[in-house]
Amino acid sequence: MIDRTIVKQIRDIAGKENVFEDKETRICYSYDATNIKYLPDLVVYPRTREQIAAILKLANEAKFPVIPRGAGTGFTGGTLPVAGGVVLVLTKMNQILQIDRDNLLAIVEPGVITADLQKEVEKVGLFYPPDPASLKTSTLGGNVAECAGGPRAVKYGVTKDYVLGLEIVLPTGEIISTGVQTVKSVVGYDMTKLLVGSEGTLGIITKIILRLLPLPKAKRTMLAIFPSIEAAATTVSQIISSRIIPTTLEFMDNATIRCVEDYLHMGLPVEAGALLIIEVDGEPDVIAREILDIQKICLANRALEAKVAKDDQEAEELWKARRSVSTAVVKLNPTKINEDITVPRSQVAEILRRLEAIAKRNQLVIVNFGHAGDGNIHVNVMIDKRRPGEEERAHAAVQQIFEAALDLGGTLSGEHGIGVTKAPYIAMELGDMGVEVMKRIKKAFDPNNILNPGKIFPDHKARGARE
Ligand SMILES: Cc1cc2nc3c(=O)[nH]c(=O)nc-3n(C[C@H](O)[C@H](O)[C@H](O)COP(=O)(O)OP(=O)(O)OC[C@H]3O[C@@H](n4cnc5c(N)ncnc54)[C@H](O)[C@@H]3O)c2cc1C
Repeated sequence: MIDRTIVKQIRDIAGKENVFEDKETRICYSYDATNIKYLPDLVVYPRTREQIAAILKLANEAKFPVIPRGAGTGFTGGTLPVAGGVVLVLTKMNQILQIDRDNLLAIVEPGVITADLQKEVEKVGLFYPPDPASLKTSTLGGNVAECAGGPRAVKYGVTKDYVLGLEIVLPTGEIISTGVQTVKSVVGYDMTKLLVGSEGTLGIITKIILRLLPLPKAKRTMLAIFPSIEAAATTVSQIISSRIIPTTLEFMDNATIRCVEDYLHMGLPVEAGALLIIEVDGEPDVIAREILDIQKICLANRALEAKVAKDDQEAEELWKARRSVSTAVVKLNPTKINEDITVPRSQVAEILRRLEAIAKRNQLVIVNFGHAGDGNIHVNVMIDKRRPGEEERAHAAVQQIFEAALDLGGTLSGEHGIGVTKAPYIAMELGDMGVEVMKRIKKAFDPNNILNPGKIFPDHKARGARE
């Protein structure tokens, strides 16, 4: 528990109207999308970087944990207060400070909702591509801290490809700016790249400079239905190797299709082995050719149907189906162990074969969907912990899933990060020395380990009150 005098000091810093100690509020900030719960001691909504700096200075003197939080949609427990402490909720720092049309950039506070920035820049003909499926709730600070991706990553890359610079409050309370507002810069170490994806363990992001693109003139969206996973996966490889880079190439297996149909009742083909949602964007005449070429590849691979959406509304319906997947699959079993391995694109068919074998071997329901176009498969092990032995078998399956991904030249996580749930596995990919070097970086930034302790590194023992 945090000392009474500390609570009083934090109230003086942030204003008592922004500091909450009641159990109801603390419960609201005890969990994220993992649904694992640890109760914080205090919840604070800072309004300025100076308030954050003062709280971090105090945390270093009094040695209490501080955990930054955006919208709490993280899938790996990054914002859980596993050692108790103060949760700093950044959602009130939510101003779009500038949209610079001459230099194609935006400057925002961390609490801006991803979709809100996208809407604002599109009004002036600009484009912010990263589009996590959580974009209507997630914050840009959370996106930067996790290096979020989304369906458009196939063509446009992920959050790190758009962050030009950051303002950061260091764990010791100093404030630094990293990066630039120019297209180029090579001054010193690339601190911006280090901080993007650092999961709130190296600093608190208080300002973000984002690169923007011109808004593509047109887009076409297609739904292709396949008799088998194999046929869909081969289609993905052939589209990429035919040198067409679609904006998105999303994949759902049969179990996912059934869950989404059950949830939305929109007429999805529940007998299909798999489906792909494919989008292209750019100059109208170019994409008209590309979508026809893609249609031919789908049909050559035994697609039962490859239908282009007739208008924006029909396309939006398809995207609604895709964005509902995470919520819809929970009907299969109450607990979802959600992994997001990524393999080289040429290995998508092979990883799907191996995943099927892992599900059979461990007698588990495993549902697969995701960003097939960049090899990022969301593997969802759906379990009911009340059934004896199921949780243990699921953990064995997770280990096998990671081994399969690494064996095919892939990675443990394409976009969800490590947080607490994947921490036990990171040495499988990084090796012991790789983990050790990262620990040294953490120590250089945060000598007293007060900022978001218990994340990323495997050897932390949770001390907080797990609800
Ligand atoms: C339905 C659903 C769909 C999703 N789809 C995708 C997807 O397609 N692609 C994808 O990449 N992710 C996806 N996610 C995961 C999640 O939305 C992203 O990781 C997102 O970036 C988290 O943003 P947030 O604001 O909710 O952050 P939080 O969950 O609040 O925090 C995430 C991490 O960021 C840190 N953090 C937050 N704000 C700051 C800050 N200002 N400074 C420093 N650290 C900070 C936290 O400490 C924590 O470690 C999905 C989640 C859900 C629930």
